[in-house]
Amino acid sequence: MGSTEVSTTCPYCGVGCGVRADVAPDGEASVRGDPGHPANRGKLCSKGSALGETIGLDGRLLHPEIDGRRTDWDAALDRVARRFQDTIAEHGPDSVAFYISGQLLTEDYYVANKLMKGFIGSANIDTNSRLCMASSVAGHRRAFGEDVVPGIYEDFDEADLVVLTGSNTAWCHPVLYQRLLAARKARGTRIVVIDPRRTATADECDLHLALDPGTDVLLFNGLLAHLARAGVLDRDYIAASTAGFDQAVALAAADAPGVEHVAKGCGLAPADIRFFYELFSVTERVVTVYSQGVNQSAHGTDKVNAIINCHLATGRIGRPGMGPFSVTGQPNAMGGREVGGLANQLAAHMNFDNGGDVDRVARFWNAPEIATRPGLKAVDMFRAVGEGKVKALWIMGTNPAVSMPDAGRVRGALKACDFVVVSDVTRTDTTRFADVLLPAAAWGEKDGMVTNSERRLSRQRPFLAMPGEVRPDWRIICDVAIRMGFGTAFDFVNPAAIFREHAALSAFENKGERLFDLGALADLSDEDYEAFQPRLWPARSRRQAGRLLGDGRFPTPDGRARFIAVRQEGVALAATSEYPLALNTGRLRDQWHTMTRTGAVPRLMANTPEPMVDLNPHDAAAYGLADGDLAHLSTRYGFSRARVRVTEAQRPGQAFLPMHWSGHFAANSGAGTLAAPITDPHSGQPELKNVPLRIMRE
Ligand code: SF4
Repeated sequence: MGSTEVSTTCPYCGVGCGVRADVAPDGEASVRGDPGHPANRGKLCSKGSALGETIGLDGRLLHPEIDGRRTDWDAALDRVARRFQDTIAEHGPDSVAFYISGQLLTEDYYVANKLMKGFIGSANIDTNSRLCMASSVAGHRRAFGEDVVPGIYEDFDEADLVVLTGSNTAWCHPVLYQRLLAARKARGTRIVVIDPRRTATADECDLHLALDPGTDVLLFNGLLAHLARAGVLDRDYIAASTAGFDQAVALAAADAPGVEHVAKGCGLAPADIRFFYELFSVTERVVTVYSQGVNQSAHGTDKVNAIINCHLATGRIGRPGMGPFSVTGQPNAMGGREVGGLANQLAAHMNFDNGGDVDRVARFWNAPEIATRPGLKAVDMFRAVGEGKVKALWIMGTNPAVSMPDAGRVRGALKACDFVVVSDVTRTDTTRFADVLLPAAAWGEKDGMVTNSERRLSRQRPFLAMPGEVRPDWRIICDVAIRMGFGTAFDFVNPAAIFREHAALSAFENKGERLFDLGALADLSDEDYEAFQPRLWPARSRRQAGRLLGDGRFPTPDGRARFIAVRQEGVALAATSEYPLALNTGRLRDQWHTMTRTGAVPRLMANTPEPMVDLNPHDAAAYGLADGDLAHLSTRYGFSRARVRVTEAQRPGQAFLPMHWSGHFAANSGAGTLAAPITDPHSGQPELKNVPLRIMRE
């Protein structure tokens, strides 16, 4: 490969920015934003612009290993296939599991899901996207009948009010935030930020509602009741396109009987709530954006539905500048949802609980052992590993030893597990537990498809040769499947062939019941796939898709959306005298996940070179801590340490710790070690935003 520019996609957040990558003959790579990509129109954030500095081989896994010793691919793949076969033969298909990643490309995800659900016969395949947006998936399914994001990024340009709730968009989806600020400058878009912390996102807003942790349902129930009282409901839309309004609004009114009640429950000023409710009432073009602050909660699904209820009640959905809008954390969280990468989904937006879907997928795959019921979601999966019920585990492209809640217990489970396979790009805290280590291709070497938060499919293309003996994930998975005796079903020659099968499955016996449909892409030639230009799904015809659900028809049996009656439940774990603070975790602007890539770039490390815990001055004084002190943090799940940053951005009684650090980078066991393994009953997503904390000087 010479110095030709290659169009690819950023491997970090769900904005899914287009990147133009160029490698000079001396091996130096440079990147710039792709001006032709509709998601970013040439812009990149600090992480994206530093991608060229992350392609070195320091720390790369270059050769397969068994028990810490270098081996060859045949020996490694034989060992994986044989141990999985033996375990299944002795203990049944549910004794094995895959834990995969939103970093995988759609084709990797597809074959992993096909192997586990169609050929091994278990649905024990879950993904780190469970920690990111599973509550949005569950909320969308409850309200719309399918996991559909109705909006597109142009809605950010065309809205008159954007409500950012549980979303530090300025840091976590920076290019989208810049797009919103450009729209604000051009048309005066109003912005409301709902977040317990005063984040960088709140620097530019008309109103910041620093509500108490876990009170989002109360706030949005109060909004629904206010909309009803103020007479700004779209009665025609409610009658023609929805069901369940009366129950939802009655419960909302009982739960949130007035502004004063909401203000008291949320810890907000009544005047601020009135301002928000009035602004929402009088503005037709409203987009409500939500991400991890809503999803990562023991009641995340109810929060999502409380938001969607307000948009359904006003008919503001799927039209220009209107709608609920979940933004995903990872580059291919959405692609994973499409292939059924979550343990409770089948492929192509089909489900275990929809009659006929299991049979349909089995017939399409000619699958010998199709799974018939959901498998273990992430937290339960690692619990089952710890209990010895899952005896063989394959982890692909993710670092659960750091990122899972109650990570200390997860590390113990991995240590005790009979057989652990890890395929990854670099050594991590998790690779330490691998019996077999498989070196996977990295960004810049990989070739496949991803889908961003607005349902836009884009290509990740290679511009670097694969170093050492690394192989792409899809190839590794197929090679194991073939060794397990499933040859012809996994005899793919390239990612394009996998994508064609995925697209064909999405259209198989789909007469419009499922909106997710890539039928028009099922016969892409290899050349068409190579030249593929970003496009939104569905792709039923050559015509480009746009917003969805704006016609008032939903993919439910009766074509109507569902209001979901929800009530404020409070936080799962309240502060105690022993653990008096509420710990919130999240991302920094310049880091990505557990820093395996961004941690290697000095300029990205410069802003925050070590883990910092943010504390309000009142709490710092109460615990005898000053700015820069090293603090010992403990919860009932584990302990960690971080340097104190005293800031008014943090409300009294609350602390914030970035999720990124681990023992790999600092004398710190990480935010995951402190977090609670308590999950939402509908989505299985863990509570990562509120765990009782004790803090003292180290
Ligand atoms: Fe990458 Fe997200 Fe930054 Fe875009 S906004 S360059 S996708 S990290």
